[in-house]
Order: sequence, then C-alpha cells, then structure tokens
Amino acid sequence: MARFKAVVITKGEAGTSAALTSFDEADLMEGDVTVRVSHSTLNYKDGLALTGKAPVVRRFPMIPGIDLAGVVETSSHADFKPGDAVILNGWGTGETHLGAYAEKSRVKGDWLVPQPVGLSAAEAMAIGTAGYTAMLCVMALERHGITPDRGPMLVTGAAGGVGSVATALLAKLGYHVVASTGRPQEADYLKGLGAAEIIDRNELSAPGKPLGKERWAGAVDSVGSHTLANALAMTRYGGAVAACGLAQGMDLPASVAPFILRGVSLLGVDSVMAPKALRLEAWSRLARDLDRARLQAITSTIPLEGAIDAGKAIIEGRIRGRVVVTIG
Ligand code: NDP
Repeated sequence: MARFKAVVITKGEAGTSAALTSFDEADLMEGDVTVRVSHSTLNYKDGLALTGKAPVVRRFPMIPGIDLAGVVETSSHADFKPGDAVILNGWGTGETHLGAYAEKSRVKGDWLVPQPVGLSAAEAMAIGTAGYTAMLCVMALERHGITPDRGPMLVTGAAGGVGSVATALLAKLGYHVVASTGRPQEADYLKGLGAAEIIDRNELSAPGKPLGKERWAGAVDSVGSHTLANALAMTRYGGAVAACGLAQGMDLPASVAPFILRGVSLLGVDSVMAPKALRLEAWSRLARDLDRARLQAITSTIPLEGAIDAGKAIIEGRIRGRVVVTIG
C-alpha cells in the first residue's frame, strides 16, 4: 500500500481546506511504529482543524485526527510487534504530527497504549479523547476526595462528547448528576445516560456574581468562560471543579471568592500530554466503569468520507455524544 486514503488539510492564500485524497506512505513522518488504522473519532479539536476555525494545525499538509485505533503493521519499538491492537490519543497527532484520518499512521511507540482489555477498537474510539478526558476529570475529582456522598455533581456541555461520557460515568459511579445543556430536546437522552437533573445552560453562561447559592460538590466543565466562573461560584464549601474545555470561550471571568471564602479548588485537566501511567489507569477505569449500553446510546458512526462535514457540525454544536469514524 504505497498510497492510501487520507483526509489532508492544506493551506493556501484563502486559508486552509480539507479534502479526502490519497497520500504517499513515503511522506509519513518519523516514528518507530506504523499502524494500519481501523477506526478514529471526531473530537471538537478535529472540528477546529477541519474547519480552520482555530489554528490547531501547526504544519501543512496535515492529516487531522487526534485519536486512532488499529493494528501494528511494522515496529522497531520494544513494546510493540506486528499484529498488536493499539490505540493513541493526542500527543500532537492531527496538530504537529500526521494524524488518524488515514488508512496508515506512523507514530512514536511511546505514544501508543495497548487496546484496553474488554473494549473493541470501535468502542475505544467511541470513547476517544473526549471520553478519556472525562475519565481524567473524574479521577482528578476523586483524588480531591469528591465522593458521591459529598453532594451533586455538575456536568456542563452535557450533550457533547466529554459531557455525555462524564454524565454516564458519574451516574454509574453513584453521583447525583446535574446535566447542563443548551439543548432541552436532549433531556431524555441525558436522563437515559443517568442524569438526575437537567438545567438550561443559560443559567450558567451569562456573567454572574462572585459567589452564588451552593448547589454542587463538584463539576466537570468542558465549556470554560462564564460557565466555569458560575460553576465555581456555586460549588459547595471544600468542593472542586475539573476544567478541561473551552466550548464557550477560553476566558475565565471569575473572582477568587470561591477559592478564598469556600476553599473551592480548580483542577486543570489535559489529555494531550498526560503521562502514560495516567492514560493506562484512565483506560482501565473506562473499560471497568463505563456502561456499554450507555456508550452505545451516545455513539453514532460515519465513514471517513463523512468526516469533513462532521467537523463543521461539531463546531456548530450539532453533534450529540460521540462519533466513530470507520477507516480500514
Ligand atoms: P462537543 O462539541 O462534543 O461538546 C461541547 C458542548 O459544549 C456542546 O455539545 C454544548 O453542549 C456545549 N457548548 C457549545 N457551545 C457552547 C457555548 N457557546 N456556551 C455554552 N456551552 C456550549 O466537544 P467535546 O465534548 O469533544 O469537547 C468539549 C471541550 O473540551 C472542547 O472545548 C474541547 O476542546 C475540550 N477538550 C479538552 C481536552 C483536554 O485535554 N483538556 C480533551 C478533549 C476535549 P450542550 O449542547 O449540551 O449545551
């Protein structure tokens, strides 16, 4: 397979554009493992790359796709041999390193983790970076001692990818989940994932007071901006908010009041450069703690041919839950 199918982003005078085309294996970047990609997925960041809405792509041409699942074809890395089933999340693939929307990918073996026991390649990509980040948020809150008996847990951007997985995970772990969404028509979907209460995201997205009524013990926030500020202002004494996203904005128009008057903590969560031990723990927890029927309920599947349109849809807030992209 000297040439293979790939989505390629190029940059011209009018900006960036994405097209499904063929790519020469000789043009793959350096790496000690070549993977035959079977599945990828669609994350918000893939939407930013495909549409050019934010400069996440740092070299051109670029194959987008920050997540892959596949089978090792060749390897000079000690931990991997041909035939091994592997997954990859982040590490700059689809941004600085040629990514997953292609039948082949050459990457550093240090970036790979074995396909988690108990999850198929398609299920691992249904979880993808969004779901693995949701798990990192849950683990950060747990490390902070936020257990279900401490009170309700807010999830913002609940009908999105991170939010859907966070809702399903937290509900399975016994938390009373308050799901914040701008899509009231998704109330039944969110209740099906285990949300106990649904609130309108307008309650959180406008400028608010430094401190509000104490409503939850913690939060998983994928939205940022005023929403994160209000989530903090309404967190109970000693609680914590795990912040991982910026769907509303990158700003944080908050005050220090929740930190210095209520001992609230803000926990930053990054998936891209997270160390391997944390990744392995997150994936084994996902294999154990995520209800498969709920995972199926949040997942839709598209072929590689549909990825460019889906990228526009996720940026416009039209994607519910998670999207698997089938490739090989
Ligand atoms: P999605 O687009 O699937 O979900 C985002 C959700 O946020 C939407 O579904 C919507 O939820 C809500 N939302 C969108 N726009 C606004 C707005 N203007 N105001 C308030 N809420 C809004 O994206 P993902 O779940 O894949 O990613 C969510 C965020 O997390 C992104 O910013 C992404 O970059 C970030 N992220 C960060 C990672 C990290 O390592 N830190 C890893 C993965 C993602 P609803 O319709 O329910 O209101």
